[in-house]
Amino acid sequence: MNLILLGPPGCGKGTQAKILIDTYHIPQISTGDILREAIKKESPLGIEAKTHMDQGSLVPDHLVIKIIEERLKQTDCNRGFILDGFPRTVAQAEALDTTLSEMGSKLEYVFSIEVDDEELIRRLTGRRVCRKCGESYHIEFNPPRQDGLCDSCQGELYQRDDDKEETIRNRLKVYQDQTSPLISFYQRKDVLHSIDGIGSIEEIKKRLLNIINT
Ligand code: AMP
Repeated sequence: MNLILLGPPGCGKGTQAKILIDTYHIPQISTGDILREAIKKESPLGIEAKTHMDQGSLVPDHLVIKIIEERLKQTDCNRGFILDGFPRTVAQAEALDTTLSEMGSKLEYVFSIEVDDEELIRRLTGRRVCRKCGESYHIEFNPPRQDGLCDSCQGELYQRDDDKEETIRNRLKVYQDQTSPLISFYQRKDVLHSIDGIGSIEEIKKRLLNIINT
């Protein structure tokens, strides 16, 4: 099964992707995670990506398209994949179509997870991420058992640089301007499903699985 989780930053794409991995045993491919890993390693990709990410802007299309083309060719994608945070522009979506048709594959579901801006800002400013395993928490809605420490691996929790309020507002604007046109792009292809992203993690999971199972 090949699917895309589309939606503004903070809508819960990453959380739902992790649930879908466990249910369908297909990999989650997050361009954000791949780029943050490249920044940690200080690779040429990471150095270039950092300047864009720190401002909440998009990393240039040609860089992320190359990442995805290479990633989709890996054997763990043979049974399908969950794209989280890609595509983010129409050019990326068109490149994805080309790559998939070259692979003899196609998209089955695009889920657009909808959450209003004020709720997104509340979620993102309170988000804390484990430095070691990437697990995500929220200081108010999903706090760790021990302040500042990951429940799963005891790693240190930190606030992503781009989760500061000013950068978040830019990321939301970038989403409106550059990514939201993908909603009509995928509507035209008849693969888009809009999901109400307000509710518990469990409720949203049910909404997604209901669509897949019917
Ligand atoms: P995310 O973890 O998905 O919120 O992504 C964090 C940041 O990584 C974004 O604000 C962008 O700067 C960059 N990024 C991630 N995915 C993409 C993409 N598909 N295209 C361009 N930039 C991206």
